[in-house]
Amino acid sequence: MNTRRTTLRSLLAGISLGWPLLRTAVAANQDAARSLLLEDEPAAKAIGYVAAAAKVNTAVSPTYRRGQSCTTCVFVERSTAKQRGCTLVPGRLVMAAGWCKLWKLTGSP
Ligand code: SF4
Repeated sequence: MNTRRTTLRSLLAGISLGWPLLRTAVAANQDAARSLLLEDEPAAKAIGYVAAAAKVNTAVSPTYRRGQSCTTCVFVERSTAKQRGCTLVPGRLVMAAGWCKLWKLTGSP
């Protein structure tokens, strides 16, 4: 009986330790399946996407304000990754430091 409890406890401990690793591996695999959006692609040009918000041409994108980036946009996946999914660009990744004309602050109405 004691051995059975120990085995069950060990199994549960193994699952609880392994679950975060499995989730990380699955997320990494999903990211590998999605390619990075490049600035010269039609989909990127259509939304005025740039990979580095600091390089936004304000003559072309006058709505840009310093400090805005995909990291703070409501449409980007919550993560700490440098490349993340964006719901407005399905199946692709954008740079967290990027920006586009559709930027909307997370938490804004
Ligand atoms: S919608 Fe937001 S997250 Fe998506 S590319 Fe534009 S600024 Fe980045």
